[in-house]
Amino acid sequence: MLIGIGTVLQGSVFDDESKVNRIHLEFVIDEPYFIAHLLINTNLQKFSSEKYVEDLQAFKEHMTQIADKEVQTLMEYCRADWKYNDGRFYYSIHPDELKLPEMESLVAKAKQSAEYDKLLNQTIEYLDLCKRQWLDNYDTTAERVKAITGFSLQRKITVYISHPGLHTGRCLGDRKIAWGNREDFPNYTTIYLWHEILHTYFEFDHGINHSLIQFIADNELRTLLNGGTYPLYVGHKDLFETMELIQPYWEEYLQSSHRDILRFAEQLKQELNIASLPHISK
Ligand SMILES: [Zn+2]
Repeated sequence: MLIGIGTVLQGSVFDDESKVNRIHLEFVIDEPYFIAHLLINTNLQKFSSEKYVEDLQAFKEHMTQIADKEVQTLMEYCRADWKYNDGRFYYSIHPDELKLPEMESLVAKAKQSAEYDKLLNQTIEYLDLCKRQWLDNYDTTAERVKAITGFSLQRKITVYISHPGLHTGRCLGDRKIAWGNREDFPNYTTIYLWHEILHTYFEFDHGINHSLIQFIADNELRTLLNGGTYPLYVGHKDLFETMELIQPYWEEYLQSSHRDILRFAEQLKQELNIASLPHISK
């Protein structure tokens, strides 16, 4: 069920983090999750570009014809799982939580179709692109992230790749990331994989941690790889106001010789009047 095409360390070495001397991404396509993601996100029209819309819709229509009951159950399950968070409704399906009895039949039926084969092949190709770009940029970006944060970058993280025609980027917790997108600008995948990886190092808070993630990945790494300067910022727009407040402290922090980003985050929380910060969403 799991198509693993990552550079994977096997066995005990893989499980012992002290023996992993880098951020080790395992890129996988978990078929039940992949299929559920295809159907749900196509239904919600969360397309990342026009390119694959026809193929995605053809699959959804085919599945509705041959497995209507299973598709309906999946949609109901998903609707029941909608969560309200920081002023926004969102839902997320998690590869570990898809325990619907209907999934087995849904997956079996999907795998018999040419429509599915086409989407799977596009995604395998996309996985390969993500992995290659990540590895090509790893040394340059890891050096920068380490220098800015002081983090020990020894971590194994599983990346659940979804179809490139559907927009997804989320840290699922427990060293797991969901990823699928278009390449909005050069090195986009590398920059946003780092964004999600950094979520595994920071706790979610009122927005300072998330703003720092956005400073490091969306802005520092982007300008490192692609050139340019900031502000103007790139990233979640609802964090820009907080980032503006942090900017002078950030510039000072980057000049300092001993950098400890978690301590810096704590200092910011003392310095900035938290209650006055703009409303933040995850
Ligand atoms: Zn984020």
